[in-house]
Amino acid sequence: MKQGKINGIIVGGGLVGLTAALALHQEGIAVQVFESVEEIKPLGVGINLLPHSVLNLAKLGLLDDLRKVAIETSSLAYYSADGKTIWKEPRGLNAGYEVPQLSIHRGDFHMILLKHVQQRLGVKSVKSGYHFTDLSQTNRNVTATFVDRKTGAEKDRVTADFLIGADGINSTVRQHYYPTEGAPKYSGQMLWRGVTEMDPFLDGRSMFMAGHNNLKLVAYPIRKESADRGKSYINWIAERRIPSDLAERQGDWNEEGLLNEFRGDFINWNLGWLDIKALFENAMSIHKFPMIDRDPLPKWSFDRATLMGDAAHAMYPNGSNGVSQGVLDALTFADILATRLDIIEALQAYEKVRLEPTSKIILANRQTGPEQVMQMVYEKCEGECGQQHTCISRNILEDISLKYKKLAGFDRQSVNLSA
Ligand SMILES: Cc1cc2nc3c(=O)[nH]c(=O)nc-3n(C[C@H](O)[C@H](O)[C@H](O)COP(=O)(O)OP(=O)(O)OC[C@H]3O[C@@H](n4cnc5c(N)ncnc54)[C@H](O)[C@@H]3O)c2cc1C
Repeated sequence: MKQGKINGIIVGGGLVGLTAALALHQEGIAVQVFESVEEIKPLGVGINLLPHSVLNLAKLGLLDDLRKVAIETSSLAYYSADGKTIWKEPRGLNAGYEVPQLSIHRGDFHMILLKHVQQRLGVKSVKSGYHFTDLSQTNRNVTATFVDRKTGAEKDRVTADFLIGADGINSTVRQHYYPTEGAPKYSGQMLWRGVTEMDPFLDGRSMFMAGHNNLKLVAYPIRKESADRGKSYINWIAERRIPSDLAERQGDWNEEGLLNEFRGDFINWNLGWLDIKALFENAMSIHKFPMIDRDPLPKWSFDRATLMGDAAHAMYPNGSNGVSQGVLDALTFADILATRLDIIEALQAYEKVRLEPTSKIILANRQTGPEQVMQMVYEKCEGECGQQHTCISRNILEDISLKYKKLAGFDRQSVNLSA
């Protein structure tokens, strides 16, 4: 049933807030997005859209635009630091999915979402420079207060039938309901995130991870435009275990990273098919960000207000699930709200469907998710393996990979069944 008469507030115009706006609009539900920053800009570096989220984005009519800018990931491989293969599997279309897995620049994705929201819902549907500070509810509606972030002056009070807090890992909506929660949890690993344009490695569409829990390198190309010129716009993450107070300082995506903070740790690495020194030294930008998450919550929905995306379930990036799970939240929410008459009941139903699976992924990612195979080899290998590690049996490796896909909802069978 189409819900022509209800309207909602989305706090946060990030990836998930904008996806939710499109999904709700598609169901005939009116929403306005309130974003804290004055201007929404294409920030960040690479992210991965797993097939289950790509399928949902295709349902929103975004697949053509995404394909024009993203790289269709062909495979994922894990290596030890000496370049020996631990596990390699096809991904996306190569693995028989009906839809691709996409590696994309966060900013490119963000701008596609913004363009579609503005085209479909109207330019005024996204209000930037509106920083959410507080909310109150009656039994008929919810009212949110927004201020100008710079001056602190109240800007507006907006009343609607429901409110979604999609305001990221440091969500103020979440804080409203969990005032004593404090800062995100730091895993002990610092991530230096960079992008470098250089010659392609492997087939130019592969994603790899190498190393172990204390020292890891992840890289994958993210821009089709670069590939069309015979190059690769490579997103990379150098990960090392160090003490840090960045998490307490709430995790700033724009904190600058320095080469000399991590380059030395990789000096003896040789994967054979990638010049790691050139990858680091020719970076266009390097930022550092602590690997942080938040504990699973017992409850997301509070009468007419609920949480979504990182605000609901910030997780470690192991397994590339962060944004994908947020996309699933958005489509699930819209689907449920469109078929229920009672809003409070709909928000409860959304929580019932999405809270438990995402909580399980948060916990699985704390055990490094599918990447645990790298640590297993690091601990077990006695140096006798050839170019392919045989110290862990293939059955075990296959089992870990499939179990994680099932846990996160992107095993091929489930995705293709709902395509
Ligand atoms: C600037 C930035 C860069 C990022 N770069 C990367 C990256 O390179 N790689 C990666 O994997 N992930 C990155 N992320 C995180 C990634 O986008 C999220 O993990 C994921 O996409 C979940 O999306 P989300 O919409 O829940 O959160 P986000 O994408 O973080 O969006 C939250 C939005 O809410 C807004 N907001 C926050 N507080 C308020 C408030 N009080 N009132 C109104 N609006 C508010 C924020 O400005 C932001 O636009 C980045 C996030 C940000 C904000």
